[in-house]
Amino acid sequence: MKGFILHIQPVRDEDCIVTILSPHQIGTYYRFYGARHSVIALGFLIDFEIEGEDGRFMPRLRGVSHISFDWLGNNAKWLLWHQWIQALSKHLKEVEEVDSFYYNLLLKSAQRMTKQNTKRVVVESYLELLAFEGRIYRQERCYICQTPLDTRVSLMQSFKLVHPQCIHAPSLDKKSMMRAFETHSTIYLDDSDVDYLMGVVQRGL
Ligand SMILES: [Zn+2]
Repeated sequence: MKGFILHIQPVRDEDCIVTILSPHQIGTYYRFYGARHSVIALGFLIDFEIEGEDGRFMPRLRGVSHISFDWLGNNAKWLLWHQWIQALSKHLKEVEEVDSFYYNLLLKSAQRMTKQNTKRVVVESYLELLAFEGRIYRQERCYICQTPLDTRVSLMQSFKLVHPQCIHAPSLDKKSMMRAFETHSTIYLDDSDVDYLMGVVQRGL
């Protein structure tokens, strides 16, 4: 089975509890420490086997092999990938059965990161996720004060649109943001807009 590591919780003697997003489920497994085991880290895509699934104890992770991406040595990309994984992990907390959309979204974003700007890939993935969950902000009114929006907007968590003066935050062009909502693309946004949106992604979903 393949999956992305969403969370690692150390327990005793360097053992750990690992949460993994697979195409149809989010599983929590026990991993015994051993010198011959391959290294695991948050955000890794791994191939793995499970044993003891029907027992009284937590199923155990075994036969782990890491499926690497060629940007893995790039620290800046790795840091942004971590932030994206952490936002997603928090969002999917307590969930056990998932639509394959989430696994496929991570797989696609990891593959796109080889050639494309990482922040843009993450922001576009976030837009795709909001659209999938039916949470794209469709109102012409400010989320905070409920009066009509102007030509410049600021964003709250989940890209909810507000007046810049309502949250004292940087702003961007409303039409460009609406286009991003429609297309799930950041092509109409400049790099400083994308930096701002990445900051919103870090606050979670
Ligand atoms: Zn307002």
